[in-house]
Amino acid sequence: MANIDIFPDVERFLSESKSLFIAGEWVKPIAGGSFTVENPANRQVIATVSSAEKEDVDRAVQAARYALEGVWGRVQPSERTRLMLRLADLVEEDAHHLGQIISLENGKPYTNAYSGEVVITANILRYFAGWPSKIEGSTIPISPRSGAQMLNYTVKEPVGVCAMIVPWNFPLSMCAWKLGPALATGCTAVLKPAEQTPLSSLRLAELIQRAGFPGGVVNVVTGFGEGAGAPLAAHPDVDKIAFTGSTAVGRLIAQAAVGNMKKVSLELGGKSPNIILPDADIIRAAKGAADGIFYNQGQVCTAASRLYVHDSVLEQTLDELRKHASAHVIGPGLDPSTTMGPLVSSDQYEIVRGYISKAIDEGAELICGGKTPDYLSDGYFMEPTVFLDKQEKACIAREEIFGPVVTVMSWSDIDELVYRANNTPFGLAAGVWTNNLQQAHRIAAQLKAGSVWVNCWNVVDPASPFGGYKQSGWGREMGKNVIDAYTETKSVFIDLS
Ligand code: ADP
Repeated sequence: MANIDIFPDVERFLSESKSLFIAGEWVKPIAGGSFTVENPANRQVIATVSSAEKEDVDRAVQAARYALEGVWGRVQPSERTRLMLRLADLVEEDAHHLGQIISLENGKPYTNAYSGEVVITANILRYFAGWPSKIEGSTIPISPRSGAQMLNYTVKEPVGVCAMIVPWNFPLSMCAWKLGPALATGCTAVLKPAEQTPLSSLRLAELIQRAGFPGGVVNVVTGFGEGAGAPLAAHPDVDKIAFTGSTAVGRLIAQAAVGNMKKVSLELGGKSPNIILPDADIIRAAKGAADGIFYNQGQVCTAASRLYVHDSVLEQTLDELRKHASAHVIGPGLDPSTTMGPLVSSDQYEIVRGYISKAIDEGAELICGGKTPDYLSDGYFMEPTVFLDKQEKACIAREEIFGPVVTVMSWSDIDELVYRANNTPFGLAAGVWTNNLQQAHRIAAQLKAGSVWVNCWNVVDPASPFGGYKQSGWGREMGKNVIDAYTETKSVFIDLS
């Protein structure tokens, strides 16, 4: 295994003990706590990070409020655009460093960190940088009962202080998903990264500082869910909370938000159905199915974890899946030959292992994978794993695993198939592989999912809405829809008579 050398700048960054970023300054937590971050490829500690508690969250929220009511509230839209474009440039300039930091803390292959996170972060920031001068209200031709002549217009105002609680699977780009619309609309932010992957957010905070954003516009508090996330979600001076993570924690966030009726957006779990029709290009469909589940070690909320294959093409699809699974080179993210890194943590590794052994106990047929390669026992590695469970009896056919494990099921009747595909509490994504245009449209119309991909998977674009039906979430991120989620609409009536 040949690791890429760690850049001296990244070495320096990792070796410095990390503070919280509050009001534009790097400050130690009031209680002085810290925790370590480990590299999931070898379990070695790579950095020590501050552990924020309620008092630190209070300080960060206060700083965000102060900036909102003060300097940031007066910044013109064109200046917000300039700052966001500057930040996008700095992200790009720092791309190799950010890529290494993400790969080290999360485990994902460096090339995926670079292209799937850093480049995407710059793109998202640029997309949203175009918005500040385009957030418009309207004039409305009302008919007052008094007969008075009235002018009625609407104004879109920033919703206020936004809390952002993000997960570890895409530690940098998830920040951009939330910071992009918040900064574009003139909100301020308190960002809490996941405890497993706080480093890329801290690096981003350095770039935010260099870009010249006024202090307090973006604050970063590293810490644990209960210690830092829960007080942020419940904070009475936070106006909106944007969360991406598990459905279980999403529920807690929604409950905590009720106290002061925060606006809430939630991107939660999934168990996405991916459907192969008999007329599909099977080579392409199987490749898409493999990429859809194995990308990011399967730690993706849109993972294509339920694969429905028509009886007539089942054997061929399984052969192709075996080929794609065995073609993966499993190893540390910084080894240039690696195509699949470790799972993020020991907890996640145990969850995935637990599902694999339960699936075997429940009678699912293991087609390939299911083990940690012997030579990689230092880290949380898991082989790309394919199970066949034709009639979806095992729990791996229903529950989110968040690992590189696909459950293949077979079907023969199209109506029954659609029922089975929708028979889940989740509704984040779904896919169809076919060359039949009518079938593609018909099935896309029937699937209850926020994103439907036909002959593709995981296409996400800053201009297009993303989010879930059912228990996969509340609201949409990205695209023009998200601007509403970060603004309040004021309707102004002026009596002209
Ligand atoms: P996972 O279970 O995959 O680690 P989580 O949903 O637990 O995902 O975590 C996503 C984010 O939510 C992380 O930043 C985590 O610290 C945070 N979090 C966890 N528990 C809570 C909580 N009770 N309140 C607020 N945030 C939390």
